[in-house]
Amino acid sequence: MQKGILLILSGFAGSGKGTVVNELLNRYDNYSLSVSATTRSPRPGEQDGREYFFKTVEQFEAMIEKGEFLEYAKYVDNYYGTPREYVEHKLDEGKDVILEIEQQGALQIKEKCPEALLLFIMPPSVREIYNRLKGRGTETEEVIMKRMTQGAREARVIERYDYLIINDDLDKCIEDVHNTIQCSKFSTDRNKDIISRTIEEFDGFTA
Ligand code: 5GP
Repeated sequence: MQKGILLILSGFAGSGKGTVVNELLNRYDNYSLSVSATTRSPRPGEQDGREYFFKTVEQFEAMIEKGEFLEYAKYVDNYYGTPREYVEHKLDEGKDVILEIEQQGALQIKEKCPEALLLFIMPPSVREIYNRLKGRGTETEEVIMKRMTQGAREARVIERYDYLIINDDLDKCIEDVHNTIQCSKFSTDRNKDIISRTIEEFDGFTA
C-alpha cells in the first residue's frame, strides 16, 4: 500500500482553515486529522481530545522530554505540539494526515520530512482577517491585535510553503485544497519506485 501524504495546513488566525479541514474530513475518506496537544485554555464549546488534548505546562514539557512530539512550538504564549504516534500509524495505513499547525512547526516538519506537503490558506485581504476575528467574538481586542501582529510576521514566511490557496469562496477553497493534494500524488518525486521499476522492466526487455 502507498503511504499517505503528510499535509501541513497553516493560515492566519481567521483564515477559515479550521472549517476547510472539517469539510475535507466530511467530504472525503482519505484524510485523518491529527489532534494536537496545547497548553492554552479551552474556548467555549471545545472538548478535550476533540479540538485539542489540553495539557498543563508541566505535562507538556514532560511529553517534550520523552520525545512524544513530531514537532512543537510556542505560539502567542502557549505551547502547541503534534503527538508523533498517531501520525506515523495513520500514514502507514495509507491515510493522508492533516496537521493544522502554525509556521514554526510547519518549518520543523519540512526539515524532518521533506516529502510533507505544505499548504498556506488565507482570506482575500488583511481587512477580512480582522473582520473575521472580530466577528468570531471569542477573543478580546488585545488578543486579536496580538494575532494581527503575529500575522504580519507570518506573511513573510508564506513563500516557504509549497502552495498558497485563497479562501474567498469556501466551497471553491475546499475543492482547491483537495485537488492540490490529489495532484501532488502524481509528482515524479512521489513515484520514484514506479520509475525505477519501469527502468528495470525496460532493461529486462532489451538485455
Ligand atoms: P488556536 O489557539 O487558534 O487553536 O491555534 C493557534 C495556532 O496554533 C494556529 O495557527 C494553529 O494552527 C496552531 N497549532 C495548532 N496545533 C498545533 C501544533 O500541534 N503544532 C504547532 N506548531 N502549531 C499548532
